[in-house]
Amino acid sequence: MVFEYSVTFQSVLTLIGLITVVFLLFFLIISSILIVLLVYALKTGIVPFPRFLKAGILFFETFMIWFIRVAGINDTDFWRFMAGLQNNLNKQAFSEVPIDKRAVFLPQCLRSAKCPAHLEPEGLKCRSCGLCTVGQAHRVLQGLGYRVFIVPGSSFIGRMIKKYRIKGVIGVGCLIEIKDGLEMADKAGYVAMGVVSDKDGCVETSVNWESVYEIAMLGLDPASFPDSILEFLPASEEPRA
Ligand code: SF4
Repeated sequence: MVFEYSVTFQSVLTLIGLITVVFLLFFLIISSILIVLLVYALKTGIVPFPRFLKAGILFFETFMIWFIRVAGINDTDFWRFMAGLQNNLNKQAFSEVPIDKRAVFLPQCLRSAKCPAHLEPEGLKCRSCGLCTVGQAHRVLQGLGYRVFIVPGSSFIGRMIKKYRIKGVIGVGCLIEIKDGLEMADKAGYVAMGVVSDKDGCVETSVNWESVYEIAMLGLDPASFPDSILEFLPASEEPRA
């Protein structure tokens, strides 16, 4: 009886050991492949197997973040890359969203510290006063047919998306906002494209408007663009990753 018990116990231990080794091997192989793909993508700008790369990085997020820190890769570069990767994966779906179901959400920190706009139920109402670049961008994006919101927080975004049944969103923000926003969009079932601001902070941040317009033009017929905004639009409609 004692003998049988010890054989069974030993078998269980062997099985646990075997499963651990298989798991470690699996982890080692997959994470090595992910690291090679990630480093290649960061160095060349070419993203091989984007879906696998995104799913793998998110699955092994803690390990990947540890790795990029150990490898001396800047956190910001990494999250900027992730936002670009997500945009790449969403590009086709976003292009297919009708313009009346699209919206752009701009953070209030982009405006001038002397901004005279007041907060209204749908965000800040830009007066195009000329003190910052938001006024012009607002006109260009509205010219393309977008609903444009300047918002002080993510609660506004959810409310506006629901109210106007928005299916395609362009969000501008700092890295954390873009990361959270893209995850939120995935869960809520709308297509989101993120543009990371060039300068972080709470006031007078900045963004590359050309990158915003490149995304905004996706899937739209250039013949429908009003003449008054043509001079501000980039020549290519291919967004940068
Ligand atoms: S252009 Fe618009 S957002 Fe910028 S400071 Fe003037 S009112 Fe504010």
